Amino acid sequence: MRPLVMAALAAFVAAPAHADTLIDNVSGQTIGADGHVERFKAMLMDDAGVVKALIHEGEKTPKKGFQYRIDGMGRIMLPGMIDAHVHVMSTGFAALTLDLSETGSLAEALAKIAAYAKAHPDRPWLIGRGWNQERWKLGRFPTAAELDSAVSDRPVWLERADGHAGWANTAALKAGGVTAASQAPTGGEIIRLADGSPAGVLVDNASVLVGAHVPPPTARDYDAAFALAQREFYRRGLTAVADMGSTMEDWQTFRRAGDLNTLYVRIMAYGAGIENTIQIGGPGPSPWLYADRLRLNGVKLYMDGALGSRGAWLKAPYADRPDTRGLPRLTQTQLGNLMSRAAMDNYQIAVHAIGDEANAVLLGSMEDLAQTYKGDRRWRIEHAQVIDPADWPIAARVAKSVGLVASMQPVHQTSDRLMTEARLGPNRLAGAYAWASAKATGAVLAFGSDTPVELPDPWAGFAAAISRQDENGQPPQGWQPQERVDRETALAGYTAQAAYAGFAEKRFGRLAPGLRADFIFVDTDPMTAAPDAIRKTRVLETWVGGGKVWDAAKPDGGAAGAEPVKK
Ligand SMILES: [Zn+2]
Repeated sequence: MRPLVMAALAAFVAAPAHADTLIDNVSGQTIGADGHVERFKAMLMDDAGVVKALIHEGEKTPKKGFQYRIDGMGRIMLPGMIDAHVHVMSTGFAALTLDLSETGSLAEALAKIAAYAKAHPDRPWLIGRGWNQERWKLGRFPTAAELDSAVSDRPVWLERADGHAGWANTAALKAGGVTAASQAPTGGEIIRLADGSPAGVLVDNASVLVGAHVPPPTARDYDAAFALAQREFYRRGLTAVADMGSTMEDWQTFRRAGDLNTLYVRIMAYGAGIENTIQIGGPGPSPWLYADRLRLNGVKLYMDGALGSRGAWLKAPYADRPDTRGLPRLTQTQLGNLMSRAAMDNYQIAVHAIGDEANAVLLGSMEDLAQTYKGDRRWRIEHAQVIDPADWPIAARVAKSVGLVASMQPVHQTSDRLMTEARLGPNRLAGAYAWASAKATGAVLAFGSDTPVELPDPWAGFAAAISRQDENGQPPQGWQPQERVDRETALAGYTAQAAYAGFAEKRFGRLAPGLRADFIFVDTDPMTAAPDAIRKTRVLETWVGGGKVWDAAKPDGGAAGAEPVKK
């Protein structure tokens, strides 16, 4: 009888739900196990921040067996959003440096610079970007003396909005050794005063004279930037992201946050090229760390550039510059070698491909390699922006053999629309930003933003995904409207499918028993609201692993991290 007694005792020990939490009175929606929207009215989670049960309409909400109860007050509850393509540290550094892009006059900019200096007394250099003397209606470049009037005690270095010039104060000119005797390097210009001394602005290649002396960010800078990046994410309802191109410094920053219990947002990392990937992961992908908050999944590679700069590699010349069809960044052999090296060690492969030739070559390489590297690989195309419709059958074969992820950014379609029409002309638009066609191949459609290129805003993306219209409702019928997706596909693209795209579907991405309790409360129902209303969605609360990291009702979101991360 002894084993039975032991079994009974074990059951007794396991049974008391000593600190379960019931969240009831919610209008809950998640992607269910069958891939369709599942509605619920309450959710039970345990002390470790794992979902125990969803309670559906018609089922009885438990009255006891839990320690805490949270009244959802009838609000809309969704799984935490996932952004399948971000640059975490660039997002953080963009938020950390001074942004002058909204300033309307030199005086306004100088006031902002002075205030920023006062707020950051410990920074040895002050770095910023975004100024534009045209916008200020200045009729000339600003000067070092003007910048000195705001900050003179340490170097200030501010990049122009277009990145083609920098504005230095006297301390920064001094640090760069720029004097009346300095010569500008080829392709650059030192703007000078009447007496020949440097006026303060260095154009194009001359900007290295000061730029090269800006101290590289310290570990503390990385930590500060990372904290800001996380805030950018969870205040918009993102509880997980895929970091596309992590360096060793980035990874160490994530690890420091994990060790200090200040890693809130889940990160699926892809190393920047093979070197970073192997440096970080060694013999293969890392384990899931910090209660499923961090994993090195694989490698990020680049097949080509972007349409805007005509660096995307096309099958035929650019419509607005017939002498070029862009450039590959790798030969097909190099691509195959790098992919083999990653696949051999079971790293997941994520390749940036924008132009139709880049996508064709990549798909061809994937199909070849699938002969050797079999199994569930989930090879990712990042952006997959322009695909020749003739190549969809190759995508379907890759999807069927090793698994294919189309990691696409709905907001790129609305932001790029007019530029894309100019670059491609009228006859190559059918395969551009073709979300519905990509899905139809059997590829997994994962959505993201590419922040800091776009804001990490899943609601703008959701609205674009279902409408193919921008924030002004343009064009009225939607652009290439046959490529829009339904609301369920959009929700899955920002939750369950984005998790699947990073081998995380058994951990998070949906609300279901055994998965992490990552969820949000929002003020707008994305399943019924008009696209314009979805775009304006307000995230009321964000919870990761059963802990609240953002509360819009509190000043600054309630100082995320007040509640300890649950292990
Ligand atoms: Zn990117």
